[in-house]
Amino acid sequence: MINFTYSRAGDVADAVRQIADDPAARLVAGGTNLIDLMKEGVARPSRLVDITHLPLKIIEETREGGLRIGALVPNSDLAHHPQVEARYPLLASAILAGASAQLRNMASTGGNLLQRTRCMYFYDTSTPCNKRAPGSGCSAIEGINRMHAILGASPHCIATHPSDMCVALAALEARVLATGSAGERRIAFADFHRLPGDRPEIDTSLRQDEIITAIELPPQGFAGNYSYLKLRDRLSYAFALVSVAVGLQLEGETITQARLALGGVAHKPWRDAEAEGRLNGARVDRESFAAAADIVLRQARGFGHNDFKIELARRTIMRALTQAARSTPQSQSDKRIR
Ligand code: SF4
Repeated sequence: MINFTYSRAGDVADAVRQIADDPAARLVAGGTNLIDLMKEGVARPSRLVDITHLPLKIIEETREGGLRIGALVPNSDLAHHPQVEARYPLLASAILAGASAQLRNMASTGGNLLQRTRCMYFYDTSTPCNKRAPGSGCSAIEGINRMHAILGASPHCIATHPSDMCVALAALEARVLATGSAGERRIAFADFHRLPGDRPEIDTSLRQDEIITAIELPPQGFAGNYSYLKLRDRLSYAFALVSVAVGLQLEGETITQARLALGGVAHKPWRDAEAEGRLNGARVDRESFAAAADIVLRQARGFGHNDFKIELARRTIMRALTQAARSTPQSQSDKRIR
């Protein structure tokens, strides 16, 4: 039994006030991950601050021609918003590749960024886990690690970030708007999630007294040439073994701009500037795609059960780049991979 108090935030400033002084206080919106964590005894908040009534459900154009998405916009509303479908289909596709329809109806945009790893040891309070109980050890390194990281892991944690939506947001170079006691700030998406290092209990750069208020997308949405390809054990309602988000800008057979982000392989959505640099200015062909994949995976390392993910990632990168270049993005309803 977990004893906690419950309150509603009247506005954003009130939400900040209510969490600022209590490191064990948690904001709750859709609750699709936090409530599970509480049921398992992994999260034990002293206080739940309900933010569902805050006015953060608006999607609007930014002054620079991009899109601002309120933190409480449900994942399904975001995926089916006309502007997202038309201008950012990579984001819509990634959202529809994740979870189930019921979960997408409940889950909020801000909460999607803050969901925690699905490493089974993290959820099993009878096992050591540095992320849940710092200093206790990592059960996955010598344990069952089929779903775990092949890039950016540390001797303290080899967990992966579970989100699909975040992989597309990384490729689109979104920004996170956060408000805290010191005011509002914008966080580049690449700086929002962190690698485990020696502090795997910390997932993001969000401060204790901060609340995510919105996500901003830049104008470039790569609507002409994109794909989100997710490989998993079941065709729906399963986390990625490997996923790849691609956005390309082409001039004839030449790539003028490339974005490539991977999910299911690291503690955060994985981008590699060198691999994207290899694609920029390259011809659309297998040789360029293979070279980029080799660069992304040059430091990949398996832990036994997940060794297969290195080759799987290489093939997924190649296929997703091919789909994007041909303007034949992966369908999330007909899940056959072409
Ligand atoms: Fe815990 Fe991370 Fe190890 Fe999983 S991989 S057991 S989350 S420390």
